[in-house]
Amino acid sequence: MNEFIKKKKYGQNFLTSPDIPRKIAAACGADKQSGIIEIGPGKGILTVELAKIANKVCAVEIDTELKPYLNEIQLANRNIDIVYQDILKIDINEFIEKQLPNMNIYVCANLPYYITTPILIYLLESQANIDSITIMVQKEVAERLCSKPGTSTYSAITVAVNYHSEIKKLFNVPSGCFSPRPKVDSTVINLKILKNKAVAPKNETLMFGIIKSVFEQRRKTLVNNLYSFFNGKLNKEEITNVIVKLGFSTNTRGETLSINDFCIIADHFNGI
Ligand code: SAM
Repeated sequence: MNEFIKKKKYGQNFLTSPDIPRKIAAACGADKQSGIIEIGPGKGILTVELAKIANKVCAVEIDTELKPYLNEIQLANRNIDIVYQDILKIDINEFIEKQLPNMNIYVCANLPYYITTPILIYLLESQANIDSITIMVQKEVAERLCSKPGTSTYSAITVAVNYHSEIKKLFNVPSGCFSPRPKVDSTVINLKILKNKAVAPKNETLMFGIIKSVFEQRRKTLVNNLYSFFNGKLNKEEITNVIVKLGFSTNTRGETLSINDFCIIADHFNGI
């Protein structure tokens, strides 16, 4: 086989020893009844560990030049299927129905870092019947996703993650475990997908519209955020009255609010 030249454009930082893949497989929660979707199998170092614990692994890889390596691991592991596609172009619900029917679904991946957030949003918003997502991400991204209201790393994606899942940090992985070595360390996180979302807003689009507007102007007060968001439909006094009535102070900043607070506020302004 010709030497494979790793492609930066696809975030190809491959794990170099099976120890971390074994730890990820052991932590992901899948068992012999489970189907695993792996995103970006690379040469298959994590794929083979996942195949040992699950009923079936279906991996999605964008780079067809990895075929010779993945063909080999498929020959040795009959419960591995590889689909060569961009994960973001797949209809995940159809994919699960076709590839992994009647199984509990787990997503596992050493994610390509250049599209971590789009992949996470795509999985969470798909409403697919996924039990949990176990992924390796940059350490800073893990900190952002796990951060608490009022901290500098708390952001719109953190609130979205808290809406769809219960998140926890599993373990850190030093940059020396990859080839080529990335500039930063990584962290493996687990998101247990909530069957019932953390809150039940009357209008989900409105709630996420408010969240987006708050974090786009995170140093402003909530009153000023809402004033810009409603774009003149309400004056500042009307907004202040509602905020105070709901138990928040007039100088509350939106970045200190939990998903629960955002739901209460959005429900109150629904229909305006
Ligand atoms: N799982 C392997 C490992 O741990 O060594 C490789 C992980 S590497 C960080 C990310 C992998 O995702 C690469 O194989 C890359 O080609 C693949 N990839 C990048 N973008 C992708 C996309 N949009 N859809 C599917 N796979 C993608």
